[in-house]
Amino acid sequence: MAHRANDVIDSGGVLIVGAGLAGLFAALKMKGPVTVLAAASLGSGASSTWAQGGIAAALGPDDSPELHARDTEAAGAGTVDPKTARLITSEAAARIDDLARLGVPFDRDANGGFVLGREAAHARNRIVRVTGDRAGAAIMAALIKAAHTESRIKVLEGLIAYELAIEGGQVVGVYAHPLADKTSPVLIRANATIFALGGVGGLFEVTTNPPQARGQGVGMAARAGAIIADPEFVQFHPTAIALGRDPAPLATEALRGEGAILVNDRGERFMTAVHEDAELAPRDVVARGIFRELRAGRKAFLDARAAIGARFPQAFPTVFAYCKSADIDPRTELIPVAPAAHYHMGGIAVDERARTSLKGLWAIGECASTGAHGANRLASNSLLEAVVFGARAADDVANTVGLGVPAQSLAPTANENQPIALAVASLRRTMTQDVGLERSKAGLSAALSAIAKLEGANAGDPDMRNMAATAMLIAGAALARKESRGGHFRSDCPTADPALAKRTFTTLAEVRAAAAHAVCDSRATASLQVAQ
Ligand SMILES: Cc1cc2nc3c(=O)[nH]c(=O)nc-3n(C[C@H](O)[C@H](O)[C@H](O)COP(=O)(O)OP(=O)(O)OC[C@H]3O[C@@H](n4cnc5c(N)ncnc54)[C@H](O)[C@@H]3O)c2cc1C
Repeated sequence: MAHRANDVIDSGGVLIVGAGLAGLFAALKMKGPVTVLAAASLGSGASSTWAQGGIAAALGPDDSPELHARDTEAAGAGTVDPKTARLITSEAAARIDDLARLGVPFDRDANGGFVLGREAAHARNRIVRVTGDRAGAAIMAALIKAAHTESRIKVLEGLIAYELAIEGGQVVGVYAHPLADKTSPVLIRANATIFALGGVGGLFEVTTNPPQARGQGVGMAARAGAIIADPEFVQFHPTAIALGRDPAPLATEALRGEGAILVNDRGERFMTAVHEDAELAPRDVVARGIFRELRAGRKAFLDARAAIGARFPQAFPTVFAYCKSADIDPRTELIPVAPAAHYHMGGIAVDERARTSLKGLWAIGECASTGAHGANRLASNSLLEAVVFGARAADDVANTVGLGVPAQSLAPTANENQPIALAVASLRRTMTQDVGLERSKAGLSAALSAIAKLEGANAGDPDMRNMAATAMLIAGAALARKESRGGHFRSDCPTADPALAKRTFTTLAEVRAAAAHAVCDSRATASLQVAQ
């Protein structure tokens, strides 16, 4: 589809920006016309398609939503909103039924019941899967097929949203540009706009996320004045497969759930000395355990030979294919692993109806922060949160338009086709080095300074403005949180402070003001003061 400069497209009422699980599920739950905008063709460019483990739901006879909520709270390290945890766990069964009705071929036992797998920090078997490790691809394939059969769902592919359109303090859609042409903006108008733009992993040099996951949703909303929650909490997956690829392929946690162990290049099982649950300790603990092995100059490997062995190709076909593509046979060989930026617990602050603080804007999926994950997400709770809040947003927009506080007006700024590849690479390096698994005051201050300079030098680029805003929120909130909790570890404040066991709610303006005090570089300070 070709767009002329300043084209205006009418969404027909509701616009969903992002076509991963959250966006597509919300579209399917609606009754009326809806337009779905996606940066890439449906199914690609979405973390949802890459999900391997599955969806957490308390469906076993020995399980309950309350037990699931308690595990969610324990993993979240003291900052999970208890109400939201119970909300997602109690609505899980109904949403799994919805997905099954939409055609998702979940693994079933001989009696037609769900096969329930186990993952780290879950006290019960409660992961609903598809063909072992193919949950994401199978769920997305079913949803895409269902969406194509509904003529009320209009899909716009290959458009990058870069700015909220705001009139009279109300969000009225987004400005977007075609993938390869930043000079031809198009306005997509809507009465209700739902952001489903995914995560931030691509802001880091080593990530499991697709390149489209670069915090565009958080950045756009924050630049328009939205309240952002918990931006400092980023989860690093312990076992990305270390093949030097970008993004790094994932070796699902379910491998460790089935008994695979972690060893270093001396053959030592190092996690037993780190935590009583060894390889099944919380993700942040395992990720730091591996990080420290690597920092000490050793290598880390996943050893699935005894636990999985010959079953590997059938039990974990996706991971098997990744390994084989690098000439590694995981039935008989070790899999090299390294931690990678994986999931953002923070995001655009929303209430239990998925409403943001801006009039006319809802947010769902990974770009939103509902309070369900606290400082550390429990494995397989994110797909669950995406469908629970996708359904809730669909219900709410059906009856509501125009709540929340007025948004700040932003003029659709001129687009320039700038070669920003080097700036993006520099931003990603900074984020991994100084805003990654181990953070400190000195590193975070240096990162804020570097981000501000990159932002100033690339102010004409619409995508870079959003990436820089999100990076600044993550680094600024990490600097402000002077303790270690969940995914956020400060080497200069390595313990948790009970007085700080609460969520962060902030705005870009607040983070910029605090950052201006923290950085001493005059060029960076100037950029922090003028940028929007
Ligand atoms: C490798 C991997 C494995 C995972 N495994 C699991 C698992 O087993 N269980 C689990 O619960 N979670 C898992 N997760 C996390 C989970 O997949 C994500 O949190 C979830 O899929 C997010 O869904 P979403 O719809 O919010 O975002 P996504 O699925 O990422 O979709 C975002 C959409 O927004 C679009 N987009 C982005 N920027 C723009 C823009 N500027 N303009 C227009 N469109 C844009 C993208 O193209 C995409 O269509 C995994 C994540 C990864 C990366």
